Amino acid sequence: MAVFPFSAIVGQDEMKLAILTAAVEPRIGGVLVLGDRGTGKSTAVRALAALLPKVRAVESCPYHCDPDAIASSCEHCASLKANGTIKAVQKPVPVVDLPLGATEDRVVGALDLERALSQGVKAFEPGLLARANRGFLYIDEVNLLEDHLVDLLIDVAASGENLVEREGLSVRHPARFVLVGSGNPEEGELRPQLLDRFGLAVDVSTPTDLKLRVEVVKRRDAFERDPEGFCETWRKEDEKIRRRIVAARKRLPEVEVPDAALARAAQLCMALGTDGLRGELALMRAARALAAYEGDTVVNDEHLRRMAAPSLRHRLRRNPLDDAGSGTRVERALGEVFTQAA
Ligand SMILES: [Zn+2]
Repeated sequence: MAVFPFSAIVGQDEMKLAILTAAVEPRIGGVLVLGDRGTGKSTAVRALAALLPKVRAVESCPYHCDPDAIASSCEHCASLKANGTIKAVQKPVPVVDLPLGATEDRVVGALDLERALSQGVKAFEPGLLARANRGFLYIDEVNLLEDHLVDLLIDVAASGENLVEREGLSVRHPARFVLVGSGNPEEGELRPQLLDRFGLAVDVSTPTDLKLRVEVVKRRDAFERDPEGFCETWRKEDEKIRRRIVAARKRLPEVEVPDAALARAAQLCMALGTDGLRGELALMRAARALAAYEGDTVVNDEHLRRMAAPSLRHRLRRNPLDDAGSGTRVERALGEVFTQAA
C-alpha cells in the first residue's frame, strides 16, 4: 500500500524536524506532537518510516533482531547464531499503533495461554513492544492512556529492553523504538512529569495561510487519485532525505559538542527556569543530531536555536503572570541568551 511521501508534506516543519532528528538519534527520547486533529500527525511518522532504509533482520524473529548485533539480540537469535543457522532478510521499518484501551498484556507480551493449555508449554506471546523494535511506536491521544502504561513505555524506550517477569515467565527482549505520542491539550491535561520525559515536543496546528491550505488539499487529492504516480513524483526528494539520514547516523558519533555550546544550552535552561537537567540533555542530543543531519561535525548556535523550542517548550513551569505561549517564551529566552557573548 502506498504511503504519502514525507517530502510532500506541506509545512509542519517543526514536527518534521523533530521526527527526523529522532530517527537519526533515537536516544533523544520520544517525540510528543501536540495539536489539533487532522493535522497529519500520524501521516508524518508513517511517511518517515517508509522512507528509511529497510532493516536487516533475522527472518523468523518476532523482534526483528539485527543479525549483525547479536550482543543485543534475543536469546533465540543468539542460539541460532551460535549454531550458524541464522537467516537474514530485509524488513521494512515497523510503525506500530498502540490502540487506546490496550491492556498491559497486549503491550508488553504475556504467557501464550493457548499453548500453555493445549501443549502445557510456557511460551511467551510477544506484544506490541516486540513488534515496534527498531521502528516507531505511535500512540494517538497519549493523554488518554493510563499513566502506568505511559511510564512503562517511556522506561522501555529509554532502556531499549523489555523485561517481562510474571506468570512464571522471565523474558528479556530488545525493544528499541522511537516513541511518538500525539495529544490535544484541549482534551485532557498532560501531567508535567509525563511531558518532561518526552525528549521533544512540537506544536502543530491547522495552517492559517490560504495558499498553504490549498496546497495541502491539492496534494492530498493528487495522492488519493493516483498514489503510485504521486509517490513517483516525490521519490527523488524522499531519496535525498534518506541519504542524509543514513549519512547522519554514521557521522553522529564524531559530532563534537564544544563546552561553549553546552554553556549556551545551560544559560537557556536557566533563563527559562526549567527543572532538573533533562532540558539541557535533550537540547544537546537534538542539536547534535541536527548537526549530523546538516553534515556538520561541530554543534553551533544555529543548531541550538533550531532545536531549542522542541527540546524545551514542554519543560517550562507555568507562570501565572505570563500568559505567553511556551514557544514564545523559548523564543524570548533565545533572544536574551544569544545576544550575550558566550
Ligand atoms: Zn531475535
